[in-house]
Amino acid sequence: DVDVPESHPRYESLLTRHRIEAGVDRGITSRQGLIAQGRGEAYDYLLGERTIDSADRAARAAAAYLLSADHAVVSVNGNAAALVPGELVELSEATGADLEVNLFNRTEERIERIADYLREHGASEVKGLTADGRIPGLDHERAKVDADGIGDADVVLVPLEDGDRAEALGEMGTTELVVDLNPLSRSAQVATVPIVDNIIRAIPTATDHARDLRGDPDAQRAAIEAFDAEAALTDAEAAIRGGV
Ligand code: ATP
Ligand code: MG
Repeated sequence: DVDVPESHPRYESLLTRHRIEAGVDRGITSRQGLIAQGRGEAYDYLLGERTIDSADRAARAAAAYLLSADHAVVSVNGNAAALVPGELVELSEATGADLEVNLFNRTEERIERIADYLREHGASEVKGLTADGRIPGLDHERAKVDADGIGDADVVLVPLEDGDRAEALGEMGTTELVVDLNPLSRSAQVATVPIVDNIIRAIPTATDHARDLRGDPDAQRAAIEAFDAEAALTDAEAAIRGGV
């Protein structure tokens, strides 16, 4: 769809940028999403555009949480849908988690478009359109969730969530798994499992771990116990500052 030579040293990064642009053109990504992507790219550049070891452990712990949940939901926003639609469907299938569209700047039209886009990529059921539940402590539009989706979940993966909603979800007692390239962002700071990695790499990594951990509750417990959120954030910050 785009003409970036594979030999270009920043091939992946340019491809990612084009996917976000295409998402805006298709009406699934908001214009603010372009800015969020730019911020993410800056951190990814500083991380060396790679998955650091602590992020791999985080992805494994996240997979373990999704597998061992009573009701897990993968929340999808406009950037996540533009970047990794098929990968999100695969993760939900590998873990048994529901997919729910959840937008910071919510419009029915954009939710419909994202749900359609996920279905085009193989999703059988997509939640987020009922919006009959509320997250306490947020203003009306931003509080909306499906009562039988995020409203009922004990574990939620929120890639690229904004800080306020991440905090409010945490206060509901929901275990939050966050993908965010900025280890200083509030979303990363309040997460039970912050995965400091590009969503492009983090989702397939989590799916690989889920396939490995599936059907093995002992291994799932071990993955969760081996993960230390504070140490992971410190490690990511050190990698960014010092290029460790
Ligand atoms: P807060 O500090 O309250 O959490 P924020 O200002 O960080 O809020 P946003 O503007 O929504 O909230 O930030 C988007 C976040 O998503 C940024 O931290 C950015 O690093 C991260 N991000 C953007 N693109 C990606 C990506 N492709 N993969 C992973 N993280 C990303
Ligand atoms: Mg943030």
